Amino acid sequence: MGISTLEGTQLSSWGNYPVVTANVVRPERYAELQQLRGRRIARGLGRSYGDAALLSKGQVVLMERLDRFLAIDDATGIVRAEAGVSLESLLHHLLPRGWFPPVTPGTKFVTLGGCVAADVHGKNHHCDGTFGAHVQELELVLADGSVRRCSPSEDKELFWATIGGMGLTGIISEVTLQMTKVESAYMMTHHHSAKDLEAVLRLLAEGGADDKYSVAWIDCLASGRELGRSVVILGHHANADQLSTKQRHAPLKVIPGRQASIPLMLPFSLVNSWSVKAFNAFYYWLQSAKTEEHVVGYDSFFYPLDVIHHWNRIYGKKGFVQYQCVLPTQTAAEGLKALLERLTTSRRASFLAVLKRFGPEGSGLLSFPMPGFTLALDIPVDAGLFSLLDDLDAEVLRHGGRVYLAKDARLSASAFRTMYPRYEAFAAVKAAVDPTNSFCSDLSLRLNIGEQR
Ligand SMILES: Cc1cc2nc3c(=O)[nH]c(=O)nc-3n(C[C@H](O)[C@H](O)[C@H](O)COP(=O)(O)OP(=O)(O)OC[C@H]3O[C@@H](n4cnc5c(N)ncnc54)[C@H](O)[C@@H]3O)c2cc1C
Repeated sequence: MGISTLEGTQLSSWGNYPVVTANVVRPERYAELQQLRGRRIARGLGRSYGDAALLSKGQVVLMERLDRFLAIDDATGIVRAEAGVSLESLLHHLLPRGWFPPVTPGTKFVTLGGCVAADVHGKNHHCDGTFGAHVQELELVLADGSVRRCSPSEDKELFWATIGGMGLTGIISEVTLQMTKVESAYMMTHHHSAKDLEAVLRLLAEGGADDKYSVAWIDCLASGRELGRSVVILGHHANADQLSTKQRHAPLKVIPGRQASIPLMLPFSLVNSWSVKAFNAFYYWLQSAKTEEHVVGYDSFFYPLDVIHHWNRIYGKKGFVQYQCVLPTQTAAEGLKALLERLTTSRRASFLAVLKRFGPEGSGLLSFPMPGFTLALDIPVDAGLFSLLDDLDAEVLRHGGRVYLAKDARLSASAFRTMYPRYEAFAAVKAAVDPTNSFCSDLSLRLNIGEQR
């Protein structure tokens, strides 16, 4: 019996833009992945923001049921699991044994396959690189249904095309990952306020002596001399002896905080200049006060937004775009100033604006990070937004940076080619394993990835 297809399903990712009608399949067993043919793209938990996990004219393959752990080595922290395993599940099973994901994005509701395909980065990129740097082996189901294993030493061209390859080389079926040893499920953290852009870049570049995690939240309503005013949050995994007596009792266990949910898609956006202003003022006041080093659970340090399920619905039916770019170290100060000024003069504000430091570039051919600073802005969709974002692209290009594909819904094919100079090497691997471009998404078709070389 073939796999059943849900035809004509309305689908979008985290930004709720774009919304497409797609044919969706949900394999229940590993072998079913091998039976699929035709144009298709894998989808994890849909936490990319734009159209990377969408395909209007083909099949979207939901990976959520392929979520078994295959091997866990308690002594080494090496885990082999199906690609549909989520980071939430990984934390649930591995943290009590003293192992933490080596790299994590700002939500735990993502799959291993999605983390590999986007080669995600965390707050520790400048110390530990991307997710792909910790992957020991992948198993892929290729376009003709054959299965291939690859690693940094075996079939390494395919491996580095798949790390950050946005699902375009094949369906990742298994991931072998090296986890990081931790003594507790808690973080030691301290916050610093930065009065302007120069100060925040300096604080991020210096970091804290022991802190391998850093992130800055920017008040993007501040302008003029205060442009770039931020709160910088630094932290590291707490040792058992840094915990309170109560926490020391069960150091690897965190009592989950209260969860809330936005139950329905709102017909209109709650994000407007008033709400953004109020939120930014409140957040700046709240966070900049926490200068003393203090202990928090890993959940509130890494995943503060996960406490409100479906928080993306506050943007209403039109949805929002997350614009995330990276600028090289040399041009970052000037480029970030230009981007933030353009945002303020457009009279738009980003509800969340986050700045992180990146370390050396990894080996993934389409991976996003490069040494420098990355800025992420969440902006509601409206009539003039896309011309503003084209202007931001021009600034990013002028400063030698690039836009993150996992967040993208509107970049042009020509800008993509300039931003990703290793594309030709990627295209050569893709042509060898997928000559008819079976693995494609609305993103790859828009960016002309894998079409006529
Ligand atoms: C609140 C929030 C915070 C975030 N913070 C960060 C961050 O700090 N750093 C960061 O890098 N990203 C961040 N992201 C983005 C997110 O981590 C990535 O988009 C990730 O890829 C989503 O994983 P997913 O399983 O939901 O994949 P999806 O969104 O479903 O898919 C993303 C891409 O992966 C491909 N894919 C998924 N599964 C497979 C598979 N098994 N085989 C082949 N291809 C596959 C899809 O085709 C698509 O191209 C954040 C997202 C949210 C919503």
